[in-house]
Amino acid sequence: MTVNLKDLTFARQDELIAALGEPKFRAKQVRDWLYAKNCRDITLMTNLSKPLREKLAVEHTAEGLKTLHRRAAADGTIKYLFGLADGLSVETVYIPEEKRKTVCVSTQVGCKFSCAFCATGSQGFTRNLSLGEILNQVIEARVDAGDVTNVVFMGMGEPLDNYQAVVEAARMLNAKEGFNIGGRRITISTAGLAPQIEKLAGEGLNVNIAVSLHAADNAIRTRLMPINKKFPVEKLMDALTHYPLKEGRRITMEVILFDGVNDSAQDAKKLVRALHGLRAKVNLIRFNPVAGAELQPSPRERVEQFRQSLENSGLDATIRISRGGDIEAACGQLKSAKMG
Ligand code: SF4
Repeated sequence: MTVNLKDLTFARQDELIAALGEPKFRAKQVRDWLYAKNCRDITLMTNLSKPLREKLAVEHTAEGLKTLHRRAAADGTIKYLFGLADGLSVETVYIPEEKRKTVCVSTQVGCKFSCAFCATGSQGFTRNLSLGEILNQVIEARVDAGDVTNVVFMGMGEPLDNYQAVVEAARMLNAKEGFNIGGRRITISTAGLAPQIEKLAGEGLNVNIAVSLHAADNAIRTRLMPINKKFPVEKLMDALTHYPLKEGRRITMEVILFDGVNDSAQDAKKLVRALHGLRAKVNLIRFNPVAGAELQPSPRERVEQFRQSLENSGLDATIRISRGGDIEAACGQLKSAKMG
């Protein structure tokens, strides 16, 4: 079976190079081709000897993903549909802003968690993406769109449900011999898998975490996110309180406001209470309705009122502009079958 070099951790790449009888620095050279030079063909790694390239290529590849579809929005956001080796596909979004160029990567084909507002959740779960499939999304976006300064794990799937691959991908994005992207520029998002958050706390990763909170009231949150039944708000907050945050860092709480569901003054108060004592900031997001969803976006004035009441209670809250809405590339709208 052919193995993609990007599916191997640094340690496994080192082992491979040693097994081929080559000095250690060759592994560094391979990494330079893979992660700094976007190389997707072993035969083009020209500072490796020809015999080494031939040996490597017997059982390995550096292949990228097939771009099945590419759609650019008026605001510059690009949505890709990438084909995987087994015929499945995932979506990736590139979001250019003045000071940063962000890639939003998928971590699973589909998702198990069925959040009420999410297009991905409605398509069910198929499989986890491999380490290489996650990294390849960044590489493909970089080849097509140019520079990438930030990576967010917020595409299709629940990142912490594909724990090992996501942690390894985050490490390699951050590593100097990898993509060399600063930890402050990498964000892992989660629907609130409390045990995995606790485990993540022990990984020594220098990255940001974002939590899809949406409501601090258990009944409302369970309606929006059934996973809340298993890991209710108190349990989630407990895991987050113990998360080791670096100096100056805060946990981002994502809150999509839905008309008449979680956008009242009372909801704002509950949110303030739940986040008391936690180093957190709140991103308020206006909902992009997905076809067939019964949930509707909160009116703009109510979103602003909600933000005001959080601010009045000392919580830092920003209204986030959802990018790429016209191509269904905004939060909760990724779903491979719907592309086009
Ligand atoms: S919001 Fe995230 S966790 Fe919820 S269904 Fe969608 S992809 Fe899954």
